[in-house]
This record gives sequence, C-alpha cells and structure tokens, in this order.
Amino acid sequence: MSFENDSNKTSAEIDELRKQIKKELKSELLEEIRRELKYEEKSSSTEELSLDLTPETPAPIAPAKSDETVFVSVTSILKIASHAYKYANSSIPKDKWVEVIGLLAGAIDEPEKILYLEDAYPMGHGTTVYAEIKDYKNYVRAYKDIRKKNLFICGWYHSHPSYGLFMSVEDFGTQVRYQKLWNDSIALVIDPYLINGSTYGFKIFRANLKSREWYPIPFSVKGSFDPSLLPELLSFIQPIVHGKSIYLEYDEDQ
Ligand SMILES: [Zn+2]
Repeated sequence: MSFENDSNKTSAEIDELRKQIKKELKSELLEEIRRELKYEEKSSSTEELSLDLTPETPAPIAPAKSDETVFVSVTSILKIASHAYKYANSSIPKDKWVEVIGLLAGAIDEPEKILYLEDAYPMGHGTTVYAEIKDYKNYVRAYKDIRKKNLFICGWYHSHPSYGLFMSVEDFGTQVRYQKLWNDSIALVIDPYLINGSTYGFKIFRANLKSREWYPIPFSVKGSFDPSLLPELLSFIQPIVHGKSIYLEYDEDQ
C-alpha cells in the first residue's frame, strides 16, 4: 500500500507515528488477527468471487437518532478493517475486490444500557449482493469464543469496497433478521476505500422495523485511537495477515 498522506509528513512525524503503532499493537492481537483471517480464508464458501458491479439499491433512510450511542473498541476496528482490506486493497485489481462479512461481539453496560462493541469475527467473503454467513462450523467456533469472553452477538459487519456507507435493500433484510433475534442489534458497514487517515471508514446502522427505514447511529472509539493511524496500521498488519513473521515486521526500524 502506498501512503497518500506521506508527502506532507516529515520523517520525524512518521517515526513518531510508527512508535505509536508499536505501542498500540500488541503481538497477541496481531497473531489473533492473522489466525482468524487464515481460518476465514479456508472456511469461506468457494462460490464465484467476482465483484458484482451493479450498484446495490439503497433502502429508505430515516434521520439519525442521537440518543443511541455505541462504544467501539480498537480491537474491533483493527479486525474489521484488516478483514475488509485483505480483499480490497491496492495490490488487488479493483474489479477483483470482494465484500467481507463477520459477526460483532458486544457487552451491555446495564444501568445505562450502553452497547460496547468489543470484538469482531471474520466469517466470509464473496459476491457483493448476498453477503451472508454460510459457514456453520466457523459460526459455531465464533459463538463459543464469544460466550467464553462473556460477550454476546450484538450484530454483524460487512464491507462495501469502494461504493460507500449505506444499507442496501438486501442489507436491510439481513439487519431485520438480526433485530428479530435482539432488537438493539447493529449493522456495521465498512468501505476500506474510505480509510484515508481522516475517517475510520465505517458507519453503524440500525433498522426501524415499523417504518422499514435504516438510520445511522453515533459511535465513539474507546481509548485514544486517532483515525490518522489506521492506514499505517493496516499496511503494517497486511504482511502479517499474509504470513510474514510478526516479530520481523514488529521490530523493523525504519
Ligand atoms: Zn451491503
């Protein structure tokens, strides 16, 4: 990946950024991302993985509600972004980019009923229009892990590589199914193309089951994690996802 922002950064600033990255990224998390994405790669459906370029039809949108907020962990952001980026980045021809899909694991802070998105589980990748979880074995594995961590499935994520953050008619249908299981389920949509240093490249949505409209939900990121770090982090994680030694990359000093 090339850094489009590098031209206006001094080398001292880049050094400082790299130091921050090393501080943020624990090797256990890197290993977890590598292992989970390897598993997802093997267990994904083998259907034709070509990007359907017909744009998805957006579902009707309602105004945002400000009384709902979700807190998102840095771990979730890194896992979801790494997954989306693995199948849609500058080393892959754009017409070969595909969507990814996964589960979101969260916890509820009881008195205030605030949802904390704590973790994410990559489940598959494939054609754009019907991004669905097809691998039951991988699902069960994730479900057990989520229970073990005292979390619960609070929604799903999928990517829209280069076509923006919204809910399509199909996405709306999927979200309705999640909200029928748990009414406060969330849908996170990420476009890795939008991860440019100024945004996290994702939005979170819920559906209004009565009006059959979707609306965005405000979110905050837990801890100090600036979106300007994300492109650098992803390019740092990517070789690890593709099997390079963590420690070689991790200690690289340049
Ligand atoms: Zn979609």
